[in-house]
Amino acid sequence: MTATVTLPIRPKPERTLFDVAVEQFNIAADVIGLDDDLRRILSECKRELIVHFPVEMDDGSVQVFTGYRVHHNLAAGPGKGGIRYHPDVTLDEVKALAMWMTWKCAVVGLPYGGAKGGVKVDPKQLSQNELQNLTRRYTTEISALIGPYSDIPAPDVNTNPQIMAWIMDTYSMHHGGVAVPAVVTGKPIQLGGSEGRNEATGRGVVFAIEEAAKVMGLDLTSATAVVQGFGNAGSTVARLLTELGCRVVGVSDSHGGIWNSRGLDIAAVLEHKRRTGSVINFPDAEAVSNEELLELPCDILVPAALENQITEENASRIKARLIAEAANGPTTPEADQILYDRGVVLLPDIYANAGGVTVSYFEWVQSLQHFYWTEQEVNDRLKAIMTRSFRAIHAMAERYHVHMRTAALALAIQRVAEITRLRGIYP
Ligand code: GLU
Repeated sequence: MTATVTLPIRPKPERTLFDVAVEQFNIAADVIGLDDDLRRILSECKRELIVHFPVEMDDGSVQVFTGYRVHHNLAAGPGKGGIRYHPDVTLDEVKALAMWMTWKCAVVGLPYGGAKGGVKVDPKQLSQNELQNLTRRYTTEISALIGPYSDIPAPDVNTNPQIMAWIMDTYSMHHGGVAVPAVVTGKPIQLGGSEGRNEATGRGVVFAIEEAAKVMGLDLTSATAVVQGFGNAGSTVARLLTELGCRVVGVSDSHGGIWNSRGLDIAAVLEHKRRTGSVINFPDAEAVSNEELLELPCDILVPAALENQITEENASRIKARLIAEAANGPTTPEADQILYDRGVVLLPDIYANAGGVTVSYFEWVQSLQHFYWTEQEVNDRLKAIMTRSFRAIHAMAERYHVHMRTAALALAIQRVAEITRLRGIYP
């Protein structure tokens, strides 16, 4: 007699960020008819390093931290991608971000593969000394991977030029002490950093917005904008949009948002944040939550914070005509489709925020040659790349009748697939 087996009802597994990255990849791979072999290769990360390491804290205690460095694909060149310090960092998130770096570098034509790193930590809880100890030990732990011709880190969420300086110094000390500036980008200028790198992500986003505005017939001198996130990228976008004559009516940071329909004085908001540590409680503005901020009436919305902000839940309530993703991964695939169906133009992360890694590439080239460019040269070259890439992505979107994310991914995947095909499979 057979026993009756009651099958447990399994909860639907939650979709992770890497699942989202693979889903986006498959949508674009279908559009270009990518073959199954290349699909299998490109939908995995090549290497995933997890490290657990002790750091001595100021009070003499020892804490153990977890860090990651992932290489998604190195077909086009050394791995490139930032390092983020955030309490919610996971291996899955870093894998998604590494895959997006592969596509980002390819879509703007940089000779790099995709990499990303992260440490699970809230750096705001650490002293400068603890931050330095953590950074130096993490650099040591991932030293099997990084190098000027193998994998070149850069800043990302909560990391900055000082942290890049410690990475550069630690790597250099492991290699005889002579400075190896090309091992990392986003360094202070005095150590071989590039003019314009600090602002590059935000400046690139604004170049992308200018290109999109031209084809949409959107006049930036009378447009309104909302920026979610007021870190390096978000604050630079807000400032540069204001310089173009745009009215920035809302901004936010992790503490909350502020709104003034007549436009915010961005220089004053920057000063307020410098003084108080946040944009909230800025006089002459109303308080809004980060969720409400996304739905404010405006022409241009710039998500410049973290992943998963625009979803199927809120996409239909977004009022902006143009969305430029300064953050990585702020929009889910369902939201992409809803926005596209509503005629909202979305400049995807892998293109819109590629200004950062583009100027990182300029910095790497300068560091390797010890031959430095002016800020004007950097900005002009960045503009040329952002403009050229917009046209290529836009043409792809028109040709295949797809939204800009799928178009950008299709272009990037095509390029990486072609390099992979030409190189062949070893052995
Ligand atoms: N972290 C930035 C990004 O997500 C910059 C990476 C780089 O410059 O290598 O694109």
